[in-house]
Amino acid sequence: MNTEKLEYFRGILQEEKRSLLEEAGRTVSEMTSDTTNFPDPTDRATQESDRTFELRIRDRERKLIVKIQEALARIEAGTFGICEVCEEDISEARLKARPVTTLCIDCKMEQEKKERFR
Ligand SMILES: [Zn+2]
Repeated sequence: MNTEKLEYFRGILQEEKRSLLEEAGRTVSEMTSDTTNFPDPTDRATQESDRTFELRIRDRERKLIVKIQEALARIEAGTFGICEVCEEDISEARLKARPVTTLCIDCKMEQEKKERFR
C-alpha cells in the first residue's frame, strides 16, 4: 500500500479514536457529576440498570480503541492492510468499511464458519 493511502487510513483511525475518547470522557463526567439522590427505590433501580448499560457500551468502546491503536501501530510497522492469516492484501473496500480489520474477507468468513460450529 502506498504512503498516500496509508496516510488516508491513519487519518480515519485517528479521527475515530478521537471521537471515541471524547464520547468516553463525556460518559464518565456525566456519571461522576450525577449526585442526585433517588428516594424512590424504583427510580434507583432504573438508574442502576442505565449505568450497567453505559458500562457495557464503554467496555465495547475501550476494545475498539485498543483495535484502533493496534491498526495505527500496523501502519507504523508497515503491515497495515495485510491479512494476518494468509498474508494477502486486504481489499481497500473492506478496509474502508472496517479499517481495524486484520483479516481478508476469505479468512474472516472462514473464521466465522468455525465460530458457528464451535
Ligand atoms: Zn486472509
